[in-house]
Amino acid sequence: MIFSSYKHLRNKLLEREITCESVVRDYLGRIQQNRHRNVYIAVFEKEALERARELDRKLENGERPGRLFGLPMAIKDNIAIEGFGLTCASAILSNYTAVYHATVVDRLLAEDAVFLGKVNMDEFAMGSSNENSAFGPVLNPFDEKRVPGGSSGGSAASVAGDLAMAALGSDTGGSVRQPAGFCNVVGLKPTYGRVSRYGLVAFGSSFDQIGVLAGNCDDAALVLGVIAGKDQFDTTSSGHAVPDYPAEMKSVSVDGLKIGVPREYFPETLHGTVASVVKKRLDELQEAGAELVDITLPGSDYAIAAYYILTTAEASSNLARFDGARYGYRSEKADNLSEMYVNSRTEGFGSEVKRRIMLGTYVLSAGYYDTYYKKAQQVRRVFLNSYKEAFDRVDVIAGPTSPFPPFGIGDKTEDPLEMYLADVFTVPASIAGMPAVSVPAGFDDTGLPVGLQLIGDFFREGTILGVARSIQEAWQNQGELQEK
Ligand code: GLN
Repeated sequence: MIFSSYKHLRNKLLEREITCESVVRDYLGRIQQNRHRNVYIAVFEKEALERARELDRKLENGERPGRLFGLPMAIKDNIAIEGFGLTCASAILSNYTAVYHATVVDRLLAEDAVFLGKVNMDEFAMGSSNENSAFGPVLNPFDEKRVPGGSSGGSAASVAGDLAMAALGSDTGGSVRQPAGFCNVVGLKPTYGRVSRYGLVAFGSSFDQIGVLAGNCDDAALVLGVIAGKDQFDTTSSGHAVPDYPAEMKSVSVDGLKIGVPREYFPETLHGTVASVVKKRLDELQEAGAELVDITLPGSDYAIAAYYILTTAEASSNLARFDGARYGYRSEKADNLSEMYVNSRTEGFGSEVKRRIMLGTYVLSAGYYDTYYKKAQQVRRVFLNSYKEAFDRVDVIAGPTSPFPPFGIGDKTEDPLEMYLADVFTVPASIAGMPAVSVPAGFDDTGLPVGLQLIGDFFREGTILGVARSIQEAWQNQGELQEK
């Protein structure tokens, strides 16, 4: 049983052609068969089946089914589900159990979603390949020798491999969009503040957003509509009204749409087939009546530098709480308090997390604060202004999600800077706080997926999803859809 969309599954459930239990069993079976891909950190076998039976009874009793009735989902393991592990793929939290539900979790449960389990990620969401996980790498379902992207690699690989119908991820600088691009699924990072971060373990708090990964834009829009909105537990969550995303998305017309194509997104060094696949999709939009507008985004050259200064600064402060005293792992090898702190953190954190804590502590230190942190904040402002100006002229901005197709496991682990460059196209929207989506755009000549990124003005999730939807439909109708 594989369904083309949630609507397809929902119709079958509501018409009683199938039961939630049979659907969940089916997903659990595939998860079991694909254990070697290392997608799940924890599978909720018993609980998911119990929940499915409860939902089946609900229908039998004539109760109204929720908006996500029976939707089998995977949740990134940095989002809290009360009573279950919350590891962030780190040894330091390997024995930690969440004591409350994240707001997004409450909202999904209230609409009758089913959680299949918690999925793998880069430790504390730091990485672009899912190789920085204490639980080992995740394999890309399109080529198991390659990475699924990161840090939400498990979320993307779960949807791509039909091991979940939709997943939640988190995106600080591209962690939903880049793995979505690498795994041929839709990945949406909402506007900063659109979705509550309550219950999401913080990495770079002024960047972090929970996002949705799904097989198509309709499913992504549906899930977004459920999780978005003001939350009294997150003061940075926005009170901006939550629109009917599926309706808003369907009302978007490509004809007459102005699409900004930034020069900075098509550098000489861009991988050849990534460039040609993305350009082909843009040409088709033009044929359908869209106007392609050549734009520039001043400040782009400094995006990676500013991002890694600001997020490491925030991470060094956010991760100070993991000290062996209050959460998770505590080292046995300590004779006094300070040794306990040092050894717990030394043994508990992986090397990328340590690198970032050190970098962040350095850029915040008294003597260097103005040179690095303050400068990076100024760059952030320049960025925001250049995006704002761009949106005075265009409706959406388009370009590739990643500068290259999925790379081999181990190819970039030796050189952290090389790994950081994987985010060059996704980081800008995160710096500006704007919504962005990666949509499947086609395949390179070896059959690896290529993602196209659309960036929108604040709270224009419906618009970017609408354009993304027409892209996905157009090329999939051409029969280019490749069997997994
Ligand atoms: N790959 C980027 C990083 O390592 C983005 C991570 C994220 O979005 N969580 O910081």
